[in-house]
Amino acid sequence: MTTAELCAVCGGVLETKTVEHLLKGGTNTASILVTADVCSRCGERYFNMEVPGPWKPFGTSCYSRNSRT
Ligand SMILES: [Zn+2]
Repeated sequence: MTTAELCAVCGGVLETKTVEHLLKGGTNTASILVTADVCSRCGERYFNMEVPGPWKPFGTSCYSRNSRT
């Protein structure tokens, strides 16, 4: 049984793509490339991966720059 994953919004077929995802933290914005299922009809994105709470890939170097107290 092979069923294509369908968009919950419009019922379109989802395609797995690598998309740019923006992460915002305070005044900082970083973009990462993640794999997501993207609806071919409406463009809704479904992320498979769990986006880590603290931005592990970017670490603290990006974050600590503005974290002076
Ligand atoms: Zn859709």
